[in-house]
Amino acid sequence: MKSVAARLFSRSLVFTITLTLVILTLSACAATQARVQSKTDFVLDTACTISLYDKASPGTLTQAFDLLREVNDRMTIDGKNSELIDVNNAAGEHPVRVSDDVYGVIKSGLLYSRLTHGAFDITVGPLVKLWGIGRGGDKVPPESAIKHALSLIDYRDVVLNDAEHTVFLKRKGMVIDLGGIAKGYAGEAVEKLLAKDGVHHAIIDLGGNIVAMGTKPDGSLWRIGIQDPNRSRGNYIGIVSVANKAVVTSGKYERYFIYKGKRYHHILSTTTGFPVENGIASVTIVSANSTTADALSTSLFVLGVRKGIELIDSLKDTEAIILTEDKKVYISGGLHEHFRLTDPEYALSALISVPGS
Ligand code: ADP
Ligand code: MG
Repeated sequence: MKSVAARLFSRSLVFTITLTLVILTLSACAATQARVQSKTDFVLDTACTISLYDKASPGTLTQAFDLLREVNDRMTIDGKNSELIDVNNAAGEHPVRVSDDVYGVIKSGLLYSRLTHGAFDITVGPLVKLWGIGRGGDKVPPESAIKHALSLIDYRDVVLNDAEHTVFLKRKGMVIDLGGIAKGYAGEAVEKLLAKDGVHHAIIDLGGNIVAMGTKPDGSLWRIGIQDPNRSRGNYIGIVSVANKAVVTSGKYERYFIYKGKRYHHILSTTTGFPVENGIASVTIVSANSTTADALSTSLFVLGVRKGIELIDSLKDTEAIILTEDKKVYISGGLHEHFRLTDPEYALSALISVPGS
């Protein structure tokens, strides 16, 4: 959610491998031929790949990528125009009417902001802009600027009007940033589009935010690798087996800069104003809902291991895998049967209960 159309376009020229593959996997029996259609493009400031393991009407993949671009263009806070920028520009002045999807994402963002008592907070925008991590920022901002940004963050100062579909930020300078949730929503939107088109088996991968639709065509579970935070993309430390689930990871290795030898990453504490440093390297959420998974992956990263696992265990059908910098793996109760650790350098750990905590 960080890019404007122009930036997206120029970056996509450099980074995008736009390929539309149609692979026919020939099996012994012609009747069981599995058709895979796959397309990769640079959208939502990341490389996205959608793979369909089903018959789909011609144009489905193009429609799906058009939808991703629409979501980006409505919810970005970079550049000059978006619905969200209109809301932010009217802060302290007047409410702004927004489309159903922007309204819905802001509403669910506020739900997780409340659930985490502001550890996850969609009004984190002033801080995100100040640090500019992943957007050219390369140094630690002055303390006074961090303090000022923090003073503008408070999800309780967002006023929604369900009847009018308007959003109002009470104080001038407030900025909603949906970077922690919008990719999840985009995954959910594409999932609905594909389902409407009769697709039952698909993988929607929005830069590591994955929606695994249905099962594999042969009825077995999808196997999703959990990225090793210390190695390049595609190296995993374990495998989670799922059907009909979103698997979304937030990691400190995703976007960062190095200043005076120290790394500063993009998940920010709404208390200290600095990138969260609590020993967590990544959080993966497994949930039936992709928007939920995205919001919670960022939320748990900020909350830390103990509060994070406690929160997940209190929610139905939502599971978590937390990797720490000292190579421990914490998994929530419902995942034991579905997660397999494959990297011997990592060790499964249990939360040790501390009396009174
Ligand atoms: P990614 O964008 O790499 O998938 P996340 O889903 O974890 O990663 O989202 C990180 C983004 O969320 C940041 O780039 C920023 O836009 C936003 N963000 C950072 N800190 C917070 C926070 N405490 N609460 C809500 N959103 C945050
Ligand atoms: Mg997230």
